[in-house]
Amino acid sequence: GTTLDLPFFRRFLDRATTVLVAHAAYLTDLDAAIGDADHGSNLKRGFGSAAQAVADAGPTTPGALLTTVGVHLTNTVGGASGPLYGTVFRRMGKILGEDAEVAPETLGRALAAAVASVRRLGDSAPGDATMVDALQPATDAYITALGERRDTAAALKAAAEAARTGAEATIPLQARRGRASYLGERSIGHQDPGATSTALLITALYEATDP
Ligand code: ADP
Ligand code: MG
Ligand code: MG
Repeated sequence: GTTLDLPFFRRFLDRATTVLVAHAAYLTDLDAAIGDADHGSNLKRGFGSAAQAVADAGPTTPGALLTTVGVHLTNTVGGASGPLYGTVFRRMGKILGEDAEVAPETLGRALAAAVASVRRLGDSAPGDATMVDALQPATDAYITALGERRDTAAALKAAAEAARTGAEATIPLQARRGRASYLGERSIGHQDPGATSTALLITALYEATDP
């Protein structure tokens, strides 16, 4: 089975950084259509800085690792997504606390707290065509799967699938928050960049179950 320990979260951060760098041009293209063409470069810079900080700081718990990532995302990503992703990681880090091994249910509580803080900070809800449209269904799918007594890897797989489906479901939506909302109806027909990067991040979390 999967152990949600420090090596798991290190694998997550490695995979997240790799996949965001590999998809930076794609994310920036999505943002070029309905925003200011910087989402990929923002995240590439932010996760590069966060991964370097984790390598330098040597956190000894999952919570400390996520908190370090969050602080660096807030400081280096910029734009709307920097403070929002910063909040996600810092909030999760706080909920994981000092535990050396995170219980699967605790990860569920951390995801739920993270999506609640994004919704509060961004004044956003599902259906607004933002990262919430991937993060909320991913969180719900993970918690539901655990409730059905599925193991951690299966629950994270369900979360990754829900995040991808949620990101794709932003295509027909009109953006209600962020720069894309300035386009009004012209935002319809485009996949939200932040929902897309969230789906990549949740997929990295699932892939970290495979050492
Ligand atoms: P910016 O739009 O400031 O250039 P990014 O391009 O890095 O920042 O990130 C844009 C993404 O941030 C959007 O695609 C959307 O998913 C997310 N976003 C923007 N505003 C909000 C908000 N108020 N609530 C939730 N997510 C938001
Ligand atoms: Mg942008
Ligand atoms: Mg910008």
